[in-house]
Amino acid sequence: MKKSEDKLKDVISHAKEYGYVFPSSEIYDGLSATYDYGQLGVELKNNIKRYWWTAMVQMNDEIVGLDAAIFMHPKTWEASGHTEAFNDPMIDNKDSKKRYRADVLIEEHIEKYREKIGKDVQKGKKRFGDDFDEAQFLATNPNVKRNQEKIDLLEGRLEEIFKNDDLAALKDMIDELGIACPISGSKNWTDVRQFNLMFSTELGSVAGDASKIYLRPETAQGIFVNFLNVQKTGRMKIPFGIAQIGKAFRNEIVARQFIFRMREFEQMEMQYFVRPGEELKWYEHWKEKRKRWHKALGLGDEFYRDHDHIQLAHYANAASDIEFDFPMGFKELEGIHSRTDFDLKAHEKHSGKKLQFFDPELKKSYNPYVVETSVGLDRLFLAVFSASLKSETLEDGSERVVLSLPPALAPYKVAVMPLTKKDGLPDKAMEIIDDLKFDFSCQYDDKDSIGKRYRRQDAIGTPFHVTVDHQTLEDNTVTIRDRDTMKQDRVAISDLHDIIEEKVSLKKLLQKG
Ligand code: ATP
Repeated sequence: MKKSEDKLKDVISHAKEYGYVFPSSEIYDGLSATYDYGQLGVELKNNIKRYWWTAMVQMNDEIVGLDAAIFMHPKTWEASGHTEAFNDPMIDNKDSKKRYRADVLIEEHIEKYREKIGKDVQKGKKRFGDDFDEAQFLATNPNVKRNQEKIDLLEGRLEEIFKNDDLAALKDMIDELGIACPISGSKNWTDVRQFNLMFSTELGSVAGDASKIYLRPETAQGIFVNFLNVQKTGRMKIPFGIAQIGKAFRNEIVARQFIFRMREFEQMEMQYFVRPGEELKWYEHWKEKRKRWHKALGLGDEFYRDHDHIQLAHYANAASDIEFDFPMGFKELEGIHSRTDFDLKAHEKHSGKKLQFFDPELKKSYNPYVVETSVGLDRLFLAVFSASLKSETLEDGSERVVLSLPPALAPYKVAVMPLTKKDGLPDKAMEIIDDLKFDFSCQYDDKDSIGKRYRRQDAIGTPFHVTVDHQTLEDNTVTIRDRDTMKQDRVAISDLHDIIEEKVSLKKLLQKG
C-alpha cells in the first residue's frame, strides 16, 4: 500500500500524462487551486454528469432540471445568509506564513484518535479471528474507550464553540492541544479570524454605476429563487425536486489536494420540496438512495462511510456527509442536508414575494421544507479516478498500470487497432469504428506495437480493445481484449455491439442505484 502523499502524486501525474487534468494556465506556472480538464477528463466528467442527471431527473418522475445563471441579484446572498455568515475561521502560522482553517486543524487532531481506534480494531481482528465481535470490542476495550471519550469531549467542545461563534476559544483549543504547523513544526499562531469565502465582482460598465455582485458560492440558491416558476409552469405537486449541475466559486482559505478543494468547481445539487414535518423521513430516504447510487459504481463499499454533522449550518435541522476514502484519507464527497424552510422563507422576506405551495390535500398554503443532496463533481471525479488507478504485478513479473474506471464512465468504450498499418487493415478498423461510433465513443490506435497499445489503453481506462488482423479480412472476426481480465476472445464483428453494450451501458448502474 502506497503512502497517501505518494498515491496522490501518482494520481496527479497520471491525470496529467494521459490528458485528464491539467493545472490551469500552466504556461504561466498555473493558478492556485484551478484546474482544466483535458481531452479525456472532459469525457469522464460528462459521463459522471450523465450518470447523475439520468438517475436524478430521467429516473424520477417528480424531479425536473434547471440551469440558472451564475450571477444573481446581490439580495440573494443577504437572504441566504452568505454575505453575513459564509465564513471560515482562519489562522496563520507566524513562522511558515501558512494559512489554515482553525476548525480543520482540530478535526485532523481528532481524526488521529479515530485512526488509533481503527488500528486497535485491526489488531483485535487478527488476534480473535472469526470470534471477533466488533461491537463488543468497541464497547469494552479500555484503549478504545479512552480514545472514544477524548473524541466525544473534543467534538462536544467544538460544537459549543461553533454555537457561540467563539473564535478566542477556538484559538485556546489549538494551543491547548499543542497543534503544530505541519510545515514549520511551530506552535506560533496568530489569532483566529473570520474570512468570507465569496468572490465579488462588479456589474455594469459605466464608472460609478457599478454594483457589487458575487459569483455564486453554491448552485442551490438558483433553485430556490426559481421555486415558484418551476412549480407553476411544471404543475408540480409536493413532494417534487429540482436538479441542477453548475459551477460554484469559493475563495477557499486552504486550497490544496488537487481537485478536492478548488476555488472554481462544479456542483450537482438537487433540492427536494416536501411537506413540513415530513422532512426527516425524506432526509433518510435520500441519504440511503444517494449511498446506493455511489456504491453502484462498483469501486468497493469500503471506500464509503457516513459522517453525521455535529455542527449544523444555520439553515439545517439534520445533515450528513457521505465520505470517501480519497488518497488523503476519508473526506466529504457529498452532503445531504435537511434545510428546513429557511431558504424559501428568507427569500420571501427579502423579495416581498410569496414562495408558497397550495397543498390540495391539506387545503392550505405553506413554505415547503427542503431536503438537499449536494455532490461535488470534481470530488467525484477524483474519487472515481483515484480508486480506479491501480498498479498490478502480472504473472510474468512485469508491472501494468490500469485505470479500471467503471466502464459506463470510461472516456472511450473501445479502442480499435489494426495489427499493422498495411494490407487494408487500417481501412477495416475504420469501417468498424464507423459503425460503432453511433453508440460508443471509440478510439483508433495504430501507433507502436500491439503490446504497447494495450498498455496505453489500460492506462487510459478503455474497457475493450479490438484488434483487426489478416484473418479479419477473410472471416470478419476480430480479437476483443477485456481491460480488467486481459482475456482475449475471437468474435464476429457483428457481435461487437452487443458485447460492448452489455458492459458499458448505464442501465445496470441505474438499476442497482
Ligand atoms: P467542505 O467541508 O469540504 O469545505 P462543504 O461542507 O463546505 O465542504 P457543501 O457546502 O456542503 O461543502 O458543498 C456541497 C459539495 O460541494 C461538497 O460535498 C463537495 O463535494 C463540493 N465542494 C464544496 N466545496 C468545494 C471545493 N472548494 N472544491 C470542490 N468541491 C467542493
